[in-house]
Amino acid sequence: MKTSFYQYPLSELQELFRVHGLPASGPGLLFNWHYKKRKTEPCLTDLAKKSIAFVAENMTFDLPMVHTIQASSDKTVKFLFELQDGLKIETVLIPFNNKYTICLSSQVGCAMKCSFCHTGIQGLARSLKTEEIIGQFTESQKWLTKNRPGDDKILNIVFMGQGEPLHNFDAVKNACEIFLSQHGLSVADQKITISTAGYLPGLERWKNEMPDVNIALSLHSPIKEKRDQLIPINKRYPLEEVLNYVQAIPRGKNRFVTYEYLLIQDFNDSDEDAHLTGKLLEGKNAYVSLIPFNPFPGTDYKRPETSKVEHFKSILDSYKIPTLIRATKGDEILAACGQLNSKMSQVT
Ligand code: SAH
Repeated sequence: MKTSFYQYPLSELQELFRVHGLPASGPGLLFNWHYKKRKTEPCLTDLAKKSIAFVAENMTFDLPMVHTIQASSDKTVKFLFELQDGLKIETVLIPFNNKYTICLSSQVGCAMKCSFCHTGIQGLARSLKTEEIIGQFTESQKWLTKNRPGDDKILNIVFMGQGEPLHNFDAVKNACEIFLSQHGLSVADQKITISTAGYLPGLERWKNEMPDVNIALSLHSPIKEKRDQLIPINKRYPLEEVLNYVQAIPRGKNRFVTYEYLLIQDFNDSDEDAHLTGKLLEGKNAYVSLIPFNPFPGTDYKRPETSKVEHFKSILDSYKIPTLIRATKGDEILAACGQLNSKMSQVT
């Protein structure tokens, strides 16, 4: 059976070539051709004849198909991709000064069932394969280059779309290796961030297996009862343990751990919540990303007033914790944090 070229990190492709007695230069050439030069047709130049034949016999180059594209007036773009088995996922391009952050999905739906997240309601259909993660990037890049020429640079990659990336560890790890490869997409390590709800089995593997990328933890509350209510896996994987693993992840100089804090009106936005968060993260090289709740159809949670969000930030400032209020982008097309739900997109 043929396998997808886009599932292989360079080291695995090299191993495959070695096992089959093919010239060692092939994998680098192929990476350069398909990733750097963005070619989709077979590579027939430079590659040895027997490597060309091996690739033709054994590999496919299929990628997820763009099903629907929605662009909002703030330049956010949401893609609905159709996978080979007909399932659908979403990917979002978020604009920043004429460059983009790409928000990737790691699963079709999500098993975490966080009470504030639209994707959670969808449940988990399955995890994505490496090539389906890579494809979200390459196909979005292609669209940008064609439709917004000169304004098409994807600077950051965040695993903050549908799914819990650490619940699909191997595919996410392989995709990161491909993104980082000098022969491939050459994304710098500090430009990739994986966001987790605190899935401990993945955090335990991170230190030894994950390449050097950034971690973001969805904190949302330092108080057990509240976090339990927001993120059900908190009952199984207690925050103290999660924090120990998160902080033990090696990271380069001047690199922070991001803690995401979703602000919900009258639930976790009080002064006391802010002070407890400040005390928890004080002195921990933390960076806080405050995310005012983005509503979606059917939710009872509400977004706090802007003044309340700013007040919450000022309390964290007093603990000398760098804090940014995440700007809401793409909400008019349900593309903002927590609004992705590919089942709903199918209907609309
Ligand atoms: N499963 C991962 C990544 C996906 S969510 C995680 O939990 O971190 C990416 C971020 O969006 C998380 O911090 C998540 O808590 C936040 N989010 C989810 N639903 C939201 C909503 N309705 N409004 C604002 N942010 C939301």
